[in-house]
Amino acid sequence: MDNLWKKETGRADYVNLFSTSKESSVDMFVELLKMQQTRKDNQQSTEWRSKGNEFFRQENWEESLKCYNKSLCFAEVGTENVALAYSNRSACYFHLRLYNQVLIDIELAKNAKLPDRLLPKLEQRKNESELMKQLMPMFKREEKSEPKLSYEADKNIPCMANVVEIKYNEKFGRHLIAKCDIPVGQTVLVENDIPRIRDKTSVCYTCYRLHLNCMACPNCPDVMFCGVDCMNRNETHKLECGTFFPHIQLEGKMVIRTLLLAITRFLDVDKLMQFVEGALLKKPEALPTSLNDPKSKYHFFFKLSTSAPYAEALDDAHHFYKMAMNLPKVSSLFESARKKRFLMHLIAHHAVITKCNAITAESQVYVANVSSLLNHSCAPNIMSHCVSSFVYGETKRPIKKGEQLFFNYSITWASTICR
Ligand SMILES: [Zn+2]
Ligand SMILES: [Zn+2]
Repeated sequence: MDNLWKKETGRADYVNLFSTSKESSVDMFVELLKMQQTRKDNQQSTEWRSKGNEFFRQENWEESLKCYNKSLCFAEVGTENVALAYSNRSACYFHLRLYNQVLIDIELAKNAKLPDRLLPKLEQRKNESELMKQLMPMFKREEKSEPKLSYEADKNIPCMANVVEIKYNEKFGRHLIAKCDIPVGQTVLVENDIPRIRDKTSVCYTCYRLHLNCMACPNCPDVMFCGVDCMNRNETHKLECGTFFPHIQLEGKMVIRTLLLAITRFLDVDKLMQFVEGALLKKPEALPTSLNDPKSKYHFFFKLSTSAPYAEALDDAHHFYKMAMNLPKVSSLFESARKKRFLMHLIAHHAVITKCNAITAESQVYVANVSSLLNHSCAPNIMSHCVSSFVYGETKRPIKKGEQLFFNYSITWASTICR
């Protein structure tokens, strides 16, 4: 960590963190990445629809749904391609007997320039679905319940049960302790709204729930949302939409996503710099005492462990910095030399935190703030699960008052269930 957050002698600017000799190769890498950027394109939308039709003829509803969703993502807004994708998706749901989903997609198709020639067919499907819904109420799809804490939430850290507390000592650093005896099968951590990347188009890009009637982002072909609410409240996507961001590998995406989160928390770079410099002055083990608002959540992330190998993270950080500076919103915010130097250090800091704390499972990576404080044991008493947008910790063995909560990193990595 030699140069991280180091300033130039006698000056307010941070030192240049990255090797100038690697500058051109990093630039070339980012230029190649930018070439992969995609846009709304009806030709691609039509190609995906044709592939979907092929699977549909083979009665492979799952694959045809994937293709129709792709077709929807590429469809240019205001054209009949949008309506055709919804209409075709409704036909798949009809065969899957998901009649509620059929009816929702038919409405979406009708509101999206559906060609008149298709209206009678859709009306017929709608009537049949309504009839089937009445005749067969057992086809009602049950919503999965969300994980809930088995105890009351801690007043200041609401994702943690009030039977657990955060402690610090030299040997274990920050860790979690049981405040009373806790039996097996109790949910003591439920974290939501955490930095996360999930490369799966069938889930909502904001709430990560599987939603069968997703709509595409109107400005890019890369992401889908479960509805207008999730589309509007996704502040970070507004900064990455329509760029090469979807083509960055998972870890890079995570580092840049946490930067975008920080930007949306503070909006003004000077305020972000002020916050970071204040947080750096605090003891390494100091965490915010509350996790009740977006700024304290970022503060918590910022103070997570940074014990990962710095040199390795630094090389990656150089690439991530260049990628971030190629996002138009980021380059316009960090326009001066002073702010660019600050950004280098902030990205390197996020890269080290990610290396040290991120959990990768299937096609996703996340940093769960409080769960990151759990230490490793080969005989853990906590198991971590990940369900839609939630990461939760459940006791797997009885824990006595005063005992530390442990989980097994390798088991968690291998067995985290992501649905
Ligand atoms: Zn959503
Ligand atoms: Zn978008």
